[in-house]
Amino acid sequence: MKSIDDYLPIVGEKIIGRIHQKAHRLINKHIVHINSTAHGGGVAEILNNLIVLLNDIGVDAGWRVLIGPSDFFSVTKKFHNALQGNSINLSKNKKCLYLETNQRFASFTHLNHDCVIIHDPQPLPLIKYNKKRQPWVWRCHIDITEPNKELWEFIKSFILRYDLMIISSKHFKKDDIPIKQYIIYPSIDPLSTKNMDLKEKTIKTTVKKFNIPTDKPLITQVSRFDPWKDPEGVLKVFELVKEKIDCRLIYCYNMAPDDPEGVTVYSRMKKAASKYIQSGDVKFILGDNHILVNVLQRISAVILQKSIREGFGLTVSEAQWKETPVVASNRGGIPEQLIDNETGFLVEPDDINGCAEKVITILKDKKLAKEMGRKGKKNIKENFLITRHLDDYLTLLIDVLNHNLGYPNY
Ligand code: UDP
Repeated sequence: MKSIDDYLPIVGEKIIGRIHQKAHRLINKHIVHINSTAHGGGVAEILNNLIVLLNDIGVDAGWRVLIGPSDFFSVTKKFHNALQGNSINLSKNKKCLYLETNQRFASFTHLNHDCVIIHDPQPLPLIKYNKKRQPWVWRCHIDITEPNKELWEFIKSFILRYDLMIISSKHFKKDDIPIKQYIIYPSIDPLSTKNMDLKEKTIKTTVKKFNIPTDKPLITQVSRFDPWKDPEGVLKVFELVKEKIDCRLIYCYNMAPDDPEGVTVYSRMKKAASKYIQSGDVKFILGDNHILVNVLQRISAVILQKSIREGFGLTVSEAQWKETPVVASNRGGIPEQLIDNETGFLVEPDDINGCAEKVITILKDKKLAKEMGRKGKKNIKENFLITRHLDDYLTLLIDVLNHNLGYPNY
């Protein structure tokens, strides 16, 4: 199992030393993270990597996954969509299902920890159904720049019970939330199977095993099939690029149990891309295998992330770490991590032509692509590795457990 010492050669003594010093102030503190899926999507990816390291440095960190029926997840996906700006019919039934599922889970989930960290809206109301004996933190991973007003008022009634909220970008700060709002950028784990260095031989075997064509440049988007990731826009960009440069498009996708929309969007996209699927120029590859994702992010000429809204978009950091240039939307957490013109290009989500032009620029200019890749890796190393994330969490936990919550009379 991984240990913090394994990161020493990557980030150096200063960072590892600081982590140990901070962790010392939290020895034997018992904290728990609660989210709504163990796999699929960025939150599960982060928790999988972070929790092991928290334990390794002496913090007793646990992880629970909210259990709920499938119609609960249909409702919470609608909430997710409305928090990112869609409209919603906020019926009594939806609210009831949301609350009852949380109440039920709370009845058999005993939280005697020193701090409780709740991820995203699905388990947010748990705070209402547990005896609050400790600080509670709400970690919001989604883009809440322009939430649906009615839903926001409903959701806010739970957020107000929390001691602290974490967001991934300064643009997500809410003026109507009087609790401290910490900005913590997500991170990638350079030693996870998804991001570790790979031998040339492993890359070759994986390419062969998964039948990945490498005769033409690959444009790849690695994402769940979610309307917010704009898979239709990705196809349009590919069509424009293909008029100028022969290339292939790969949709590397997976499904998350808390996102029931995935299957519908997948079928829709299979139809939309059918002629290219037949010609072999568009491929849908199930990305449940992390080595496969690692390889695709390395061998692609360009990684796209054409999101319309994006809480952060781990895939943008993952690709930069592998020295692959990224063309991604100037939305949500993406501009926090992608340096425009340096490590890739930022484009407006509705600017299909602009996006295609940027992809073509990279495909045509190998020197530029290489330079962007080099700068991308440096950017991620300095700002978006798990060690920085761990350090931020330790600072937050020290603050929270010392009741340093940024407002008087706590
Ligand atoms: N992912 C994967 N296989 C896939 C598609 C996505 O492993 O086929 C991973 C991706 O590498 C990243 C996470 O799922 O680690 C997606 O996180 P991101 O923040 O980009 O988006 P989210 O799904 O959380 O909205």
